[in-house]
Amino acid sequence: MHEPPLIGDTLALDLANTHFAVRGKPVDGLSNIEALERWLAAMHTSQGLAPVYDLGSAGLASFIELRDAIRTVARALIVGDGEIGDAVDRINNFARANRANPRLDMEQTGLISRSESAATGMQRLLAEFAWDAIDLFGTERRKLLRSCPAPDCPLLFIKDHSRRKWCQPSCANRVRAARAYRKQRKAAVPQSH
Ligand SMILES: [Zn+2]
Repeated sequence: MHEPPLIGDTLALDLANTHFAVRGKPVDGLSNIEALERWLAAMHTSQGLAPVYDLGSAGLASFIELRDAIRTVARALIVGDGEIGDAVDRINNFARANRANPRLDMEQTGLISRSESAATGMQRLLAEFAWDAIDLFGTERRKLLRSCPAPDCPLLFIKDHSRRKWCQPSCANRVRAARAYRKQRKAAVPQSH
């Protein structure tokens, strides 16, 4: 079983990168509820995200909807145009759940207190990914957004270093190995005159 790569550039791109490839073949890392739970458990360990229970099919559908919206906007930004459709609205909708509501409280000296958001744990978690997407797409960081140039690699990353060219070292190694192999074969072919 292949698990989605956890590159760790941003939460939003880690979610987008659950659509990945193994030996050139596309793999959906969120193909069912168990896969989503495994991925969130891995994100909990690597990124300290809050654990969420009872995601259900609604949770899976929401994560896939948000992932597709993030991928659509990222692609449009990388290519320079492209159909965005309602992807931006969908990201904004998911982001809304995280807002704590102001509440007037005459007993308190401050009068206004902030109540906990009424959102469920799952909605708040989705909102964290949506906020992260807004923080990436809505700021100068969007200029650093790249899609990996390795053949058949659909992953997205942040070019946070001038020399960074690939999504992760494994892609750099793969491209280097393929180049060395081609060179070797070329050298092995007898030259005809
Ligand atoms: Zn790559």
